Amino acid sequence: MQKLAFIGLGVMGYPMAGHLLRAGHQVSVWNRTPAKAEAWCREHGGTPAGSLAGAAANADIVLTCVGRDSDLEEVVLGRGGLIEGLRPGSLLIDHSTVSAKLSRQLAEQLATQGTGYVDAPVSGGQQGAINGQLSIFCGGSAADIARAQPVLAAYAKAQAHLGPVGHGQLAKMVNQICVAGVIQGLAEGMHFAAQAGLDVEQVMSLVGNGAGSSWQLLNRHRTMNAGEYDHGFAVDWMRKDLDIVLAEADNMGIDLEITSQINNFYKDVQAMGGGRWDTSSLLRRLQE
Ligand code: NAP
Repeated sequence: MQKLAFIGLGVMGYPMAGHLLRAGHQVSVWNRTPAKAEAWCREHGGTPAGSLAGAAANADIVLTCVGRDSDLEEVVLGRGGLIEGLRPGSLLIDHSTVSAKLSRQLAEQLATQGTGYVDAPVSGGQQGAINGQLSIFCGGSAADIARAQPVLAAYAKAQAHLGPVGHGQLAKMVNQICVAGVIQGLAEGMHFAAQAGLDVEQVMSLVGNGAGSSWQLLNRHRTMNAGEYDHGFAVDWMRKDLDIVLAEADNMGIDLEITSQINNFYKDVQAMGGGRWDTSSLLRRLQE
């Protein structure tokens, strides 16, 4: 059993923190909007931590799941942030999807005060978080990962140590590249099927049993066909992730033509008012 603090009780963090408690850890929580931390404590017991630094000061391991680079920076380095409370010998595990560059910077800065760092972005969406079935991409030193992995087991379907700090984020970028292409392919297939006068449901259930199948097809084609786009990961978050991917590819001097094009397609969806629609809304764009 470990003394843990969980920061960021959003769509992902709220259920993840619950799994840690059920795994037998002592968990204190903090959320920027206090009502969410109060709701979590009403459901699971305990009282919310009074401050970020206070939460960190009482924990062996602090876990974060916030938004974009600027949010994580604020939570860790901002006034009253985690850095003011983290003890020597403690460990910060970050589940947010952010740049590898920021992960390395935070790890370096925290190392000066004896705090370890693991970047551990996740895949599996809201459903994966609720069911404790996430894929976790871990970057960090062998010693920090050995400390982190038994804790992460509370909500991991799969987890792996991919290299030093930043490698977890790089691997999550691979995930986002793969997902973007698959969704666009699925959207084009469904659009083609409809335009050809085929029964879209019938075709997709056959495709789903063959080589054209994918998680996206199996889990999203019915909702896409019904024009429902409120089933998980939002377009605004995907745009954040693809911007991170494309900046990293640019640094490497490689061209991700399809990913770059799909990022522009998602800009179109945002312009259609779909920033909070789920990522399968690429089909709606084709239907405009
Ligand atoms: P979310 O529901 O929007 O929740 C974000 C959480 O971060 C909230 O608790 C929010 O606090 C907190 N937060 C954001 N900015 C903050 C700041 N500047 N200071 C303090 N707290 C801040 O997001 P989510 O879906 O849980 O996603 C969280 C992270 O996981 C993101 O990096 C996302 O890309 C990644 N992710 C999401 C999914 C998914 O399917 N949703 C899947 C994989 C990875 P408030 O309550 O005060 O707003």
